Amino acid sequence: MQIFARNPRQFRKGSLKKQDVKIFREKVNQAGIHPLIIHTPYTLNLAAQKEFLYRISIKEFIKDIKEAGQLGAQYIVIHAGSFKDDEREGLERLVDAVKIVVRNTPGIKTEVLLENTAGEGSTLGYTLTQLGFVFRKLSRVKRAGLCLDTAHAWGAGYRINTNKGLNSFVKEMDKEFGIKRLKLIHLNDNPYEAGSRKDRHAHIGEGRIGRAGFKLIVNHPALRDVPFILETPKSKESDDIKNLSLIKEFYKSGLHQRN
Ligand SMILES: [Zn+2]
Repeated sequence: MQIFARNPRQFRKGSLKKQDVKIFREKVNQAGIHPLIIHTPYTLNLAAQKEFLYRISIKEFIKDIKEAGQLGAQYIVIHAGSFKDDEREGLERLVDAVKIVVRNTPGIKTEVLLENTAGEGSTLGYTLTQLGFVFRKLSRVKRAGLCLDTAHAWGAGYRINTNKGLNSFVKEMDKEFGIKRLKLIHLNDNPYEAGSRKDRHAHIGEGRIGRAGFKLIVNHPALRDVPFILETPKSKESDDIKNLSLIKEFYKSGLHQRN
């Protein structure tokens, strides 16, 4: 399960109440939910050019990680940030920010996951080369990993909907930062063509990745045991169930082939 632990479109207004945290943990345990993932608000930018925004992002993210720890989350996800000028410089800022937040949250088990982007606007972390650069600099930071969003990878130009495209993508991930850094997958379709750099999510099978693409993705030997989260559009309650059943069906059809 992935949730926002606070309003995703604002800076922090307060803190979680102890009593709420207690009730939440009990309910998660009762329901047997694992892993629990916290998604960070969109207002934070760990590569921000403006010093004020950079500092407030780091400060708030530290607090978010601490709260994620209290909630018992295995992972906290944040987008790789954005930076207008030299990409290398932006990535360096991101690396520094991750080092700072990990250093300032000792003893907390929640791992920090950087999410790949579609490369829309001035967002960073849309190519595997960029992510490789980041994770090599974080080689000694054990509590940092990757959250792979399929709609974003597609938007960035990776044709992960064919055997050949997906295999070369996985191989490149492994070469750039080691597949072990991949901890979570956001399963979303994308309505635009590969390489559009557009960050738009579509229902499973209703975008350009398509049903055949998702069948390959959820059954790929390097990916099938990684937790999957749906971030597909939701206009009615049944949308989630529809997407979830499709993914389960694809996964099951792959199980037969494995035997
Ligand atoms: Zn995502």
